[in-house]
Amino acid sequence: MRGLILCVVSVCAAAGGMAARAATLPGPAFPTFQSAAALQTHCDNGLTRAKAALRGLERHPASDLWLAAYDDLNALLEDWAGPIYLLSNVHPDKAIRDAADACELRWQDFTSSLGQNVTLFAAASRLREHDPSNALLLKTLREDFEDAGVSLPPAQRKRAKEINDRVTALGQEFDRNIRDANTQLAFSVEQLRGVPEAMWRSAKRDDQGHVLLGTDIPTYMSVMQGATDAATRERMWRAKTNEGGAPNLKLLAEIGQLRKEYAALFGAASYADFTLRRRMAHSAREAQAFLDDVLKAVSAREATELAELRVAKARELGLPTEQVTLQRWDASYYQERVRRERYAVDQEAFRAYFPPQASLAFVMRVIEKMMGVLYVRVDGLKLWHPDVQAYAVIDTASGQAIATLYVDPFPREGKYNHAAVWSYRNGSVRLKRAPQAALVVNVARNGLTLDDLETLLHEFGHAVHNNLSATRHSSQAGTSVLRDFVEAPSQMLEEWVYDPKVLQVMREVCSTCATVPEPLLSQAAAAKRYGKGMWYARQWLYAAFDLGVHGPDAPEPMSLWARMEGASALGHVQGTMFPAGFAHVATGYGAGYYGYLWSEVLASDLRTAFAADRLDPVVGGRYRRIVLANGSQVLPQGLVRQFLGRDTNSKAFYEDLQR
Ligand SMILES: [Zn+2]
Repeated sequence: MRGLILCVVSVCAAAGGMAARAATLPGPAFPTFQSAAALQTHCDNGLTRAKAALRGLERHPASDLWLAAYDDLNALLEDWAGPIYLLSNVHPDKAIRDAADACELRWQDFTSSLGQNVTLFAAASRLREHDPSNALLLKTLREDFEDAGVSLPPAQRKRAKEINDRVTALGQEFDRNIRDANTQLAFSVEQLRGVPEAMWRSAKRDDQGHVLLGTDIPTYMSVMQGATDAATRERMWRAKTNEGGAPNLKLLAEIGQLRKEYAALFGAASYADFTLRRRMAHSAREAQAFLDDVLKAVSAREATELAELRVAKARELGLPTEQVTLQRWDASYYQERVRRERYAVDQEAFRAYFPPQASLAFVMRVIEKMMGVLYVRVDGLKLWHPDVQAYAVIDTASGQAIATLYVDPFPREGKYNHAAVWSYRNGSVRLKRAPQAALVVNVARNGLTLDDLETLLHEFGHAVHNNLSATRHSSQAGTSVLRDFVEAPSQMLEEWVYDPKVLQVMREVCSTCATVPEPLLSQAAAAKRYGKGMWYARQWLYAAFDLGVHGPDAPEPMSLWARMEGASALGHVQGTMFPAGFAHVATGYGAGYYGYLWSEVLASDLRTAFAADRLDPVVGGRYRRIVLANGSQVLPQGLVRQFLGRDTNSKAFYEDLQR
């Protein structure tokens, strides 16, 4: 497997004219902890250092150098706390994950106090900055202080901090209830008919010889799309939909109430309005109006698609359509049937073309071509798990190692079970500070589906946003952009996997991988479009629910969900509790889920620049220099305007929606 990676390096070395050489990772080594106690000691040391640095900053005059001094503190906090936030989600030892959670709460206490530091706020308020990016940083800083409650009367200020700390602790508990649940469902081989054998052959068995399956994404999707037995699908669907369970519903209700109280401290009508006034959307009303426009654009399509799935079900069961009800656990299954029938596409068929290591090398090579970098694997490091791989990101123009990327590819017990990037160390030109990020996914060892490859590219979009950032200050680096813009660079890349020219790149990194036949790929692209109505309608529901939970009355989440889902085409299934597993709502994305759709408008618009050639290094280079490198030191509208040479608009998004 490693040979494939070396192949990438040698190809790139030839292309970039660089001598192949062993790379080292720029920046500090990732901390390893042998025990929970070792992590705790690290936590103590970090907090001691942070407190000392804070005292220094409090004494710092509000001069031209103040902003840089503030950013130095930001960098120091990232160095000590950043890896801990990652480890609580990925470390294989539960004791260390728990110690990381405990450490996070101590950092939360420190940062919520920092947000209310009157001395720092006074200094930030006295400063005048003429340089546009410094002025923008200063403005954001003052707003962050204000939103943390620094200007509130003492009693309310104290309450704001209490709420902030409590919401963080509740959010942690929410995540932990999902991550550590280790749900196992027992199925007979007969019950797994239709599920690819490779997915369960090596799974554990119980005393009766039943196959034990978890609810991680590859397993879940294989069952939902493949199992011909409806009872099998229903059991798997219910288990996934009830992730987090009743305890999480309670946590979510408390979080909703606390956020409502928090917003009221500032005189805001709702938490959604309180949060969104700092975002591109400006207000909950504007976000909701946008969501409703999207729903309007897709609802006829959703109805047609659902009717087709119902016909497919009736045909399979040999019943008249009127006698058939399409259940929630039927949707993915019959969608997959229709896709296979109409487009001759079987997602499982792609696994043979996309072995995990070659897929990773492929995505890296695509980024290399577009953005003028090389990924060089660095071996022999002790990281949090033997599966984790380390890469130095080399800038081809200068030959310098400019960033680090860790990749944690496979599912395992106790690991975060979706796909995400931890941008735990942000770069700074001023500090000559190289960024570091960790890309965490859960792909099957027997290969990726085309959907998985799309997810991998999406996550790379976040990784390069961190890795290729070149802002003056670490506080403005890469993914620190407005929350309703942050998904755009990732969403832009998703479509790359449907481009035959892009997929040809696989040949460069894997000589033994067969090329996906062009008809299969174009059928997959058509199949991808099928189901768009249902997909967007579901996204609307998630986003509207999130805004609803954070609305003026902060309603009890489960009853709101039952009502909203009940009004959707497939209705609500009694006894299920989707919100209990909806981590976005509970944690940092609160009132921010709409951002996934909002960002898509910008992603579609950004993509227009690559219409002629998705691998164009000139356009890619400009994209890197303007959109990625600037992080949040330029507002999103400005970045897009600079890159496209015009103001952004939603034309491409609504055209894509109709395709
Ligand atoms: Zn994302």
